[in-house]
Amino acid sequence: VFNQGVALYVEDLRVSFDGFQALGGLSLTVGLGELLCVIGPNGAGKTTLMDCITGKTRPDSGRLYFGSNLNLRLMSEPAIAQAGIGRKFQKPTVFEALTVQQNLELALKGDRRARHAVRARLSGAQRDRLDELLMQVHLWDQADRSAGLLSHGQKQWLEIGMLLAQDPILLLLDEPVAGMTDEETERTAELFLSLEGKHSLVVVEHDMPFVQQLAGAHRRVTVLHEGRVLAEGGMAEVQANEQVVEVYLGR
Ligand code: ADP
Repeated sequence: VFNQGVALYVEDLRVSFDGFQALGGLSLTVGLGELLCVIGPNGAGKTTLMDCITGKTRPDSGRLYFGSNLNLRLMSEPAIAQAGIGRKFQKPTVFEALTVQQNLELALKGDRRARHAVRARLSGAQRDRLDELLMQVHLWDQADRSAGLLSHGQKQWLEIGMLLAQDPILLLLDEPVAGMTDEETERTAELFLSLEGKHSLVVVEHDMPFVQQLAGAHRRVTVLHEGRVLAEGGMAEVQANEQVVEVYLGR
C-alpha cells in the first residue's frame, strides 16, 4: 500500500456546506515519513481538510487516498483510524484521574475504558515501548503522577504519546502548541522532528516561530487559502510569496 512513498494523496477535493465552499479543489500529497506544516488564515479550510481525512466530513468530490490504494472516501471513521491515521485535537483528552503511565498502558492495549487501566498487564515488548514513549514525550519523570496534575503542555505530550502507542502511519496535529509556554513549544518541535521518518506528520499551526523551527531550511510548508493550496515550498519561499503576504497582512 505504501510502496510508492506516499502516505496521503489528495486531489481536487471539494466540500460545500449549504452552498458555502469550504474546500474548492484542494490537492496535496504527504510523503511517507514526511513532516508537513500546513498554515493559512482562519477559514482557509485546514480543519475541513483534517475532517475529510479522518472521515468525519464527507467530501462532495475529489480523490482522497491513504497510501496508493486505500480510498478514504469509502472508509468509516473507525476503519480510517484502524488503518493508521491518528488525530490530535487542540484540547487534550486524557484520563485525569489516572497516572501518566496508566494512560499510556491503556493506549498500548488499545483499550479506551479507564476502569481497565489498573488491571492492565503489558507484554514485555509493550513494557519496553512504554518506557520508550515516556522518554519520547518528555514524561519519564512524571510516569506515576496523575495526569490531572500535569501542565497543559505535558497533557498535550501525554496525548501525543497515547496516539504514538497505536503506531500511526500518519499523524494529524491540530494547533499542537496552542497555550504552551515557549519552552514547551520548543520541546514539542524537538519531539515532532524526532518522529520524522518513522511517521508522517501533518501539523496545522498558527505559531509562526514554531512552524519556522519545524520547517527548518528544507521541509515543505503548504499555505491554504479559501479552500485551496495558495503556495507550497520552503518556509523562506512561502514567506516571500506576494500572495501569501497579502493573505496574511493585506485585504
Ligand atoms: P480553518 O480550520 O482553516 O480555520 P475551516 O476548515 O474550519 O477553516 O473552515 C473553512 C470554512 O468552512 C469556514 O468559512 C467555515 O466557516 C466553514 N465551515 C466549516 N465547517 C462548517 C460547517 N460544519 N458548516 C458550515 N460551514 C462550515
